[in-house]
Parts: sequence; structure tokens; C-alpha cells
Amino acid sequence: MLILTCPHCGIQAEETELHNGGEAHLKRVGPDGSDEEFEGYMFARRNPRGVHLERWRHAYGCGKWFIAARCTVTLQVFGTYAAQTTTPPDHIVQAVRAARPDWNPTEEGASE
Ligand SMILES: [Zn+2]
Repeated sequence: MLILTCPHCGIQAEETELHNGGEAHLKRVGPDGSDEEFEGYMFARRNPRGVHLERWRHAYGCGKWFIAARCTVTLQVFGTYAAQTTTPPDHIVQAVRAARPDWNPTEEGASE
């Protein structure tokens, strides 16, 4: 079972208390974007085998959104942080790199 700690209220919540919001740090495409850019923003999502940054909402708690860094293979959670943050905090990047030295958080959040 997946258990995540909400960074807003500090409660450890089971997966059933949360709502998954998909890939984190997507770049929105405005009215100046091309059809291909908008299609990519709307439909193209990463499905990595390894560390993934994903949005979660503490649906049966404080109701706020946050981002979790977890491995999709082992379900190891490296940390959570507020969704308003545009990049993973240093302590999470260091925790991930301790397990996966080649992990690059800037590639993870990029949306093409
Ligand atoms: Zn919460």
C-alpha cells in the first residue's frame, strides 16, 4: 500500500485518502502555442520505469495538492512537497540521487 505524508498538514495518508493528479510540473500551453504543443500538453504523459514526480491531492484531509517523488517500480517514496513549488527541493533530489545517481529532475518535469 502506498502511504504518503501530506506536506501541508503532516498526516501520513494511505492511497485511498488521496487523489492522484498525474504528472507534476507540466508546462501549460497558452493561446500562442501551436496545435502540436497543445496536443502534447493535453495528452502526452510520461510513464517512466523509475522515479516519477506526480501530483496528489489530500482529498479526505486538508484538500490541498502536493507533489510526491516515488519510484514506480518499488513504490519507494523519496519525499513530498507543496505543489506550488516549481522544482523538487534539494533534500528530495539528494534522497533520489542516493538511490538513483543518474536521475535528473529537470528532465522529469519537462513536457514536450
Ligand atoms: Zn493534508
